[in-house]
Amino acid sequence: MAFFIATLVASVIGVMLLGSLLLRNRAHTLQLQADLDGTRQDLIRQLREAEHFRMACEDANDGIVIQTLDARVVWTNLAYSRIIGRPIDQIIGRNPMEFVFPEDDTPTPEEIRDFRYDPDDPTYDHLQLRLNRRADGSLFWNQHSISFRKSAVGEDHAILICRDVTPQIEQRERLKEARNRLAYEATHDNLTGLANRAAFLDFCEQALQRPAEETTFIGLLHVDLDRFKEINDTHGHSAGDAALIHVAQAMASSMPDTGLVGRVGGDEFVAVFPDIGSLDALRAKARTISTKVAEPFDWNDHRLTITCSIGAAAAEGGTTDPDTLLLQTDFALYKAKRSGRNRVRTYDERLHKRHTQETYRASELADAIDTASLDHVFQPTYDMRSGRVMGFETLVRWTHPEEGTIRPDEFLPIANELGLMGALDLGSMTSALERKHALDMAGFREMGIAFNASADLLAHPEFINRLVWGVEAGGIRRTDVTIEVLETTAFGDASETSSHAAVIRDLRDAGFQVHLDDFGVGYAGLAHLAQLAVTGVKIDRTLISNILLDETSFKIVRKIIELCNDLGLDVIAEGVETRDVADKLFSMGCQVIQGYWIARPLAEDAVLPWLQDRRTDGSHLRLISG
Ligand code: C2E
Ligand code: CA
Ligand code: CA
Repeated sequence: MAFFIATLVASVIGVMLLGSLLLRNRAHTLQLQADLDGTRQDLIRQLREAEHFRMACEDANDGIVIQTLDARVVWTNLAYSRIIGRPIDQIIGRNPMEFVFPEDDTPTPEEIRDFRYDPDDPTYDHLQLRLNRRADGSLFWNQHSISFRKSAVGEDHAILICRDVTPQIEQRERLKEARNRLAYEATHDNLTGLANRAAFLDFCEQALQRPAEETTFIGLLHVDLDRFKEINDTHGHSAGDAALIHVAQAMASSMPDTGLVGRVGGDEFVAVFPDIGSLDALRAKARTISTKVAEPFDWNDHRLTITCSIGAAAAEGGTTDPDTLLLQTDFALYKAKRSGRNRVRTYDERLHKRHTQETYRASELADAIDTASLDHVFQPTYDMRSGRVMGFETLVRWTHPEEGTIRPDEFLPIANELGLMGALDLGSMTSALERKHALDMAGFREMGIAFNASADLLAHPEFINRLVWGVEAGGIRRTDVTIEVLETTAFGDASETSSHAAVIRDLRDAGFQVHLDDFGVGYAGLAHLAQLAVTGVKIDRTLISNILLDETSFKIVRKIIELCNDLGLDVIAEGVETRDVADKLFSMGCQVIQGYWIARPLAEDAVLPWLQDRRTDGSHLRLISG
């Protein structure tokens, strides 16, 4: 029994063992099954990934090249073959250095043989750009990156990713060029290629900012061409351009490397010397430039010459600014021009003193004009046939507290530069109308009054209104008022001439007299005379004073008188100083004269007494008329 039990137990245990064995086997099988499934899916995933990698690599737009460390290609994609224009089988196994660089940039066979990538070289961490060559020889810009990987068997490889960026580079170049061109045009003069005004001021400013220890003197020359307009007028603008280019070259060839030449106006140039040493050295430079400019230059089949005037000034670093230095060269230039052109003037102590004085004088004059404190004198005109005083011309004077009486020839140019001629002339006009009113009141109603009108007065918007208002207020006849306009104003600057002509016509249409002043020396406008709506001319006093001495002056005056008589214009001879001249004029048909022989200009309060004297004692006048 025991045996039976034991056998039974044993068999039960056996069955249990078998069962458990069987059970374990089954679990194992299931596990295996699961493992197999996992591996399969893994494989599928890996295969998919490999497929994706392959797609990415083979079909990428960027070229991909896998190389050994000695640069032989082990794999490449279609894109790379396309970029460099070679079939893949001509690339595999070779070092691309043999064929990919421009010929003059290809390394020697030894260099290629010895080449090794160094995976630790940090330069490979950046994108690189290099000019490459295709199989057909054409060049392109290759932008590439290089990285390094170990393969499954532990071998190092270089992986190159390349892209043809030629269009982008070309566009960048074009943009850069355009930007450079714009920057160039913003700082250069088109015609001569010299620096323009802005670039010059910039350069000058920087030079002047350098501390005195670093430089000696900063020198500036301001060059202005003499009679440039004549070249333009006689030969046309292309000759003018040739002259400007000639001057630009003459100046540029006289400069040190550190200097700068600029064109700052139509026919105005500057030269900056950042370290000139002394005022004498600057003066010497100016002379060299002046000599070179004066050398003849060719234009078409002509040899032309031009000269220039130069103003020079220098300053120590850190002591002044470009505007001040320019003002100084301007002043020196102005003096050079006035002393007869083709000159060099340097802004030295003496000129500085003059400049200070003149600047002060200008501000005094501006004050005198603003406060209407200029004086006026009156010079009579006289009719030789009737023996009557015709009227008076109003002439401005400046009574300076220290200098005494200053003549208009001295201060009118200053007023003109200050832009105050219009205001000055309105003052003369007012004074003229007041004098005429006083004459009327004193019983000299038949006397006329004249005043001089500058271009600024003609252009003054209030001129005619104020004139009309003035005559109305004073009860003055318009025909008794004469406006004298210089011949050079009426026929001057072409751009203004037509508007001046219009004002002259308006004046005449309004009933005033208009006389052309200083006639015969300016533009010899005999032919134009009929076009202008003037009522008379005043023959210039230089012609008049010469009629007894100089045949030409005599003939010109005779013609003018004839023409005026033909056209029905008044004709007045000014500057008559002697009886002989007066007699001659009378015999030529000119009756009305003005000049020292009749009277010098009279102070305001001397006018009436002078006239009253003539009434009682006309001997002097009767003498001529008789
Ligand atoms: P202008 O209009 O030709 O005036 C005549 C000038 O000749 C005056 O000089 C006068 O004093 C001078 N003169 C008169 N008779 C003789 C003579 O027999 N011999 C000589 N040698 N000279 C004589 P002034 O007053 O110095 O004026 C010079 C110029 O200044 C004037 O020449 C005129 O163009 C201008 N001017 C004078 N006053 C004014 C003004 O109020 N406005 C404007 N715009 N210009 C003026
Ligand atoms: Ca005059
Ligand atoms: Ca005159």
